[in-house]
Amino acid sequence: MPISGLPPYDDTNIFARILRGEIPCKKVYEDAWALAFHDINPQAPTHVLIIPKGNYCSFADFSATATEAEIAGFTRAIGKIARDLGLEQPGYRLLANMGADSNQEVPHYHVHLFAGRPLGRMLSSA
Ligand code: 5GP
Repeated sequence: MPISGLPPYDDTNIFARILRGEIPCKKVYEDAWALAFHDINPQAPTHVLIIPKGNYCSFADFSATATEAEIAGFTRAIGKIARDLGLEQPGYRLLANMGADSNQEVPHYHVHLFAGRPLGRMLSSA
């Protein structure tokens, strides 16, 4: 069910539970700022979710309230994950849903990393 992406943060959401180790994930990468793991329902041969360690509902929340260090650390983690997975050639796509019209479902900020095949146009017509 799409959610608003706005605070307050709900710390019972599925990614908060993954961060706390209450639910398993197929981990790809972890550092002080980010955790990355395979999406449970992949939409491309590579579909990784990258989430900040802090409690942010969405990009809107993260960009407005995270520290400079969190923003820099998270952004660099995304680039490193893509590099380490060897995705820079022939390329990849990053996507962050925010709010109901984007179909955001999990209210913890996350970036989708898609790769492994030509990814088509940016938006579906649906
Ligand atoms: P959103 O629509 O919020 O941008 O994307 C949420 C993503 O989280 C979806 O692609 C969905 O497949 C993924 N997802 C939902 N629950 C789980 C889970 O328990 N584990 C993993 N690894 N991914 C999940």
